[in-house]
Amino acid sequence: MERTTHKKPLVSIRNLIKRFDDGHTAVDGISLDIYPKEFFALLGSSGSGKSTLLRMLAGFEQPTDGKILIDGVDMTHIPPYDRPVNMMFQSYALFPHMSIEQNIAFGLKQDKLPKDEIQKRTHSALKIIKMEHLAKRKPHQLSGGQRQRAALARCLAKRPKLILLDEPLSALDKNLRDQMKFELVDIQEQTGSTFIMVTHDQEEAMTMASRIGIMSDGWLEQVSPPEEVYEFPKSRFVANFIGKSAIFEASITRIGDDYSIIDSDETRCSFKVDRKLEGIEAQQIWVGLRPEKISISKEPPEAYNPKKPVNMLVGKVQDIAYMGGLSTYHVVTAAGKLIKATDFNIERNADHPTWDDTVYLSWEQESIMVLYS
Ligand code: ADP
Ligand code: MG
Repeated sequence: MERTTHKKPLVSIRNLIKRFDDGHTAVDGISLDIYPKEFFALLGSSGSGKSTLLRMLAGFEQPTDGKILIDGVDMTHIPPYDRPVNMMFQSYALFPHMSIEQNIAFGLKQDKLPKDEIQKRTHSALKIIKMEHLAKRKPHQLSGGQRQRAALARCLAKRPKLILLDEPLSALDKNLRDQMKFELVDIQEQTGSTFIMVTHDQEEAMTMASRIGIMSDGWLEQVSPPEEVYEFPKSRFVANFIGKSAIFEASITRIGDDYSIIDSDETRCSFKVDRKLEGIEAQQIWVGLRPEKISISKEPPEAYNPKKPVNMLVGKVQDIAYMGGLSTYHVVTAAGKLIKATDFNIERNADHPTWDDTVYLSWEQESIMVLYS
């Protein structure tokens, strides 16, 4: 993946607000930079304001306040058709009486491009979506996936700087969706254009995007590459939205350049991280642990100190969910908190814990998620 930090942003969104006439605020002060060649996903549950944000980028919706710059140009007074942006609509937006080729050429004709340029671009767009042999077909003679690709080709042929996709895969069945996921990424890489995709599907965002913006209630909760969203969520919302985790109330006991300490009554243990934390001592925060990052054992780990365990705790197995390749242990701590730990069933005769066993859970300091809200 390319590093984007030194480039000039293609899209700059500044304090963008959209309040509808009924008083509902759909976008509530978003600032965001998107860089050339990014595949950016806006991820959030239904109603979080994703489509409204996308429609403001396209120019179909006017911001109540704030600014959008594309390639350094303020879009405030620029109508949709004059923006270097193209939005991919669902398949029904194809003209039914025109062939796929004519559908792709249509926008270029409207732009009054020379005939040979139209031909060249139409051909190249058909080639990218691998549908040259279907150029003469009408939309109704195509499958759902092919129609989707044709809609994308029509969008690509105009060679916009920015392509916007609102839930592009939602109309497809699961198999086709899985296939199209990879095709969309391929096409984006091939054409070198910048994509902003809206989705409510975590897996889609995680597998397709180079960066994800997680939206909730018109806000961007976090903007990070997929690995970071999973490994280092900054809030309980993000930690719960992507993947599973146990979350504990805690407070910062020590902030140091070399290491920091967080204590949690709910676990009766300390969390030690090998870095300087943001925040102040005594600040209330939360810590999170992913089930697959927790080791479970019947014997106390070497460093176990019953008076003050650090990055480990003791509990009792309440339940075990056996799933073939792995088992998830439900462990209850002395303070009554449930923690799930998954263990891979690698050795067949290994002495695995069972119900009511006292067990020790431990984790690496890199696995501790520090959540500030
Ligand atoms: P998403 O795409 O994330 O599902 P939307 O951007 O479509 O969310 O909508 C965000 C919120 O704004 C929703 O609560 C929706 O009902 C509201 N909304 C969207 N469009 C309008 C409109 N034209 N008038 C009033 N409210 C709207
Ligand atoms: Mg939407």
